[in-house]
Amino acid sequence: MDEAQFQQFYPLVFSWIQQTVADHAGRARPVASAHFPRLPSYFQPATLASARFVAVAATPTPPLSELGLDQFSDFENIAAAGITYLDTIFVLESLVDDESLFFHELVHVIQWGILRPERFLLAYAEGLEQKGYRQSPLEAMAYAAGDLFQSQSRPFAVEEWVETRLEMAP
Ligand SMILES: [Zn+2]
Repeated sequence: MDEAQFQQFYPLVFSWIQQTVADHAGRARPVASAHFPRLPSYFQPATLASARFVAVAATPTPPLSELGLDQFSDFENIAAAGITYLDTIFVLESLVDDESLFFHELVHVIQWGILRPERFLLAYAEGLEQKGYRQSPLEAMAYAAGDLFQSQSRPFAVEEWVETRLEMAP
C-alpha cells in the first residue's frame, strides 16, 4: 500500500470505524466498570475510565475487500477475540471476563490515542502488509506487553511503556 492508495481508502475506512463505534455507543461501558483486579496496577485511572468496551457476538471488521483492499482479506476474515477502534474495545460475549484480552486491547487504545487515527491506520496497514498480523509492529508491541502482564511481572506504567516504544519506531 502506497501513500496514494492509503489516502484514497483512509476516509472510507475511518468513516466505517466512526459509524461502527457510534452504532454501539449505547451499549458501551467504561472498562473501569468491569472491575478487573489487576488492570488498575498497570493503567492510569483516566485510561480505564475513558476506554469503553462492548460485548458482541462477532467482532466487526471493516469491509476491506469490498473497498478493493484485497491484500487484507486474511485480516478481514480472522475471527478476532477482540478488536479496538479508537477508544472502544469490542470483545466476544464469551470473553468479557478475560483480563489479559482487555490488557491487550487497552494497549491498542493507547496506541490509537498517541498516534491519532490516520497515523494508527497507516502504521497498522503497513505492518499488516509487510509483516503479517502477529509480527506487525503495533500487534507485536501489544503481545509483548501482554506477555509481561501474563508472566506476573511487576506492574509497569503501560501508557509510558507504549509511548516510549512508539517514539523509538521508525
Ligand atoms: Zn491486537
